[in-house]
Amino acid sequence: MRQIVISLLLGIILTYGIGLIPALVFRFVVFRRAVSKCGAIFICFIWFLIWSSFIFSLRASAGEEPRLSGGSFIMILASYYILSRGHIQKKRTTNNSQMTIHCPQCGRLLKGANQEMVGDIPVCPKCKAEFTIEQKGENSKEVLTESVNK
Ligand SMILES: [Zn+2]
Repeated sequence: MRQIVISLLLGIILTYGIGLIPALVFRFVVFRRAVSKCGAIFICFIWFLIWSSFIFSLRASAGEEPRLSGGSFIMILASYYILSRGHIQKKRTTNNSQMTIHCPQCGRLLKGANQEMVGDIPVCPKCKAEFTIEQKGENSKEVLTESVNK
């Protein structure tokens, strides 16, 4: 009975002590920040493959049936949690960045113009004139447009 408890405890220490090391190393040493969901899943998947082959060979050398304990799966889930927790997804520019841009040639309003178009050279849908978009101030929504001479 005592032996079972010891091997059980050893199993827990082995699984969580060693099993969580890669996640902690990647999170706090390699990246020093949380990784995206996809990145965390990728790392956990690779680690799961390495881990299971390690456990299988360990069990095989001990003459046991090669299988993974539930603790290993919990360890992988915990690794995923360590890696991805606190990850901030980049916010896409919202409607706040919408701008009013008129064609400098014919004055037509460009629909759907936004902050990301600053620096672009759009073509007017009406008169086909090419023009540049420049921002007036750093946070200004007003822009300067100038025709590009061909
Ligand atoms: Zn135009």
